[in-house]
Amino acid sequence: MLTSPTATPAAPVAPATPDRVLTGDRPTGPLHLGHYFGTLRNRVRLQNEGVDLFLVIPDYQVLTDRDVAEHLGEHVEGLVLDYLAAGVDADRATIFTHSAVPALNQLLLPFLSLVSVAELGRNPTVKDEIAHSRQAAVSGLMYTYPAHQAADILFCKATLVPVGRDQEPHLELTRTIARRFNERYGPVFPEPRTLLSEAPLLLGTDGTKMSKSRANSLVLKATSDETARLIRGAKTDATRLISYDPEHRPEVSNLVLLAALCQDRDPHEVAAEIGTGGAAALKATVTEAVNTYFAPLRARRAEYAQDLGHVRQLLREGNRRANEVAEKTLTEVREAMGTTY
Ligand code: ATP
Ligand code: MG
Repeated sequence: MLTSPTATPAAPVAPATPDRVLTGDRPTGPLHLGHYFGTLRNRVRLQNEGVDLFLVIPDYQVLTDRDVAEHLGEHVEGLVLDYLAAGVDADRATIFTHSAVPALNQLLLPFLSLVSVAELGRNPTVKDEIAHSRQAAVSGLMYTYPAHQAADILFCKATLVPVGRDQEPHLELTRTIARRFNERYGPVFPEPRTLLSEAPLLLGTDGTKMSKSRANSLVLKATSDETARLIRGAKTDATRLISYDPEHRPEVSNLVLLAALCQDRDPHEVAAEIGTGGAAALKATVTEAVNTYFAPLRARRAEYAQDLGHVRQLLREGNRRANEVAEKTLTEVREAMGTTY
């Protein structure tokens, strides 16, 4: 016999706990389109939906690179400008540099005790970054990068982390650290979820992952002319008929996807429209689409860049808020570990 659905009293629905989001970008150079479509656009969307957003600028994690470390201040300010231009609202979001948050860094020690050297060594993203770095030797700091990132994420008990695909191994390790900590000392940390966008791995002009440190990036703040020049030089293939086939034609498909993202269209439709126009027509379409889409962002960035004092003030305020949160978490960690004296 069927029971009427109305006969069963509705189970009380617990209000969903709102997510807390943490993510960030190494201050190794200006943000590019990979960041924007890979994670930044999602961050702004979540912020606008009312989610509590933390943006870490992990400045300690670039000390391994001398060229970058010499311009660290400029890179940090540049990131804040990119965030503001993209729509991050510093009154609602907390933008901070992790070197200014001692209690966050202190979490690194118990966290390191929970992972083996072998686990750190087999992280594919660290391996890849080491391969692309200009260092003669791998520093201990580089090795601890994923555990440090776990501290960046867990200090504020983030539940959702919008990132590109390259960060998945790091997130997995963060979850492992959270789980092992909770098992050993009692429940303190949530196990954060990964949020990938529709462009989790945008390629650069050379056909490898677009990266700040690989000179293959279409930079958000670039001028229209610079953008046109970079896109003209992008790697493609010799087939005239343009199609969207990421598996077999990664470079061409990446350009098609870029145009589609900027025009909010289906990539197959964009490819079909270009048809037999070849790489030149594809590049013209992408250039036009990118420059049109990013014109307002670029104009906003130029305005914010007029007042770097304001940028530094935002960072001080973000660091203050991050310290408050980190000290609270560190107190809980100490209590859980029995190290309150
Ligand atoms: P670096 O070369 O210094 O490592 P990067 O360009 O890889 O710089 P990160 O600061 O390492 O940038 O990454 C910041 C965030 O942007 C991460 O969530 C990462 O996954 C995302 N991201 C970076 N590059 C891309 C890309 N090409 N496509 C999609 N997401 C990306
Ligand atoms: Mg990177």
